Amino acid sequence: LKTGFDQQPLPYVYSALEPSIDTLTMDIHYNKHAAAYSKNVKEAAVAESVDTTKPLEDVLGKISKYSVKMRNNAGGHYNHELFWKLLSADTNTQPSVKLLAATVAGFGSLDEFKKQFTTAATTRFGSGWAWLIYNSDKKLSIVSTPNQDNPLMDIAEIKGFPLIGLDVWEHAYYLKYQNRRADYITSFWKILNWNTVNDRFNSI
Ligand code: MN
Repeated sequence: LKTGFDQQPLPYVYSALEPSIDTLTMDIHYNKHAAAYSKNVKEAAVAESVDTTKPLEDVLGKISKYSVKMRNNAGGHYNHELFWKLLSADTNTQPSVKLLAATVAGFGSLDEFKKQFTTAATTRFGSGWAWLIYNSDKKLSIVSTPNQDNPLMDIAEIKGFPLIGLDVWEHAYYLKYQNRRADYITSFWKILNWNTVNDRFNSI
């Protein structure tokens, strides 16, 4: 589950997530925004003598030692590589028994988890991400981060392993949803690939 520095192929066609995410948004988001993070993190790696044969996670864990360019683009690249895998045209995936149990233990119910995550995503001011993370104290938590930061970074207020990440930058939804971030988040739940979340939870 480690992440490299190169952009991986999108695991579906640009139109696959219609109508929840429109084709043009997916095309621009993947080919312009996300591609730039990968290009720029590789530039920063050259400039800052980072071995790109090692996982990107190694850099994220000590991101405070690197430049702002590295922070923004290492985060941006990691976050998007994860995000694409968290989406699917299959709208029938479900949390595993194990993940559901952890969700109930952490939040009371799956619905209550979704409600709290939605609030975190809705109220993140400006650009950033909402996350479901698994903490070092072996609990699930909902957090949000600004810009392209993420909970693997040593500078994160609350650290943990990301199980779900939702991009709430306007570039992720503006063409279709304009200012209606809440509607985009409602659509996100329909296309969230719980199989990916289950795999990540099983990996820790
Ligand atoms: Mn994005």
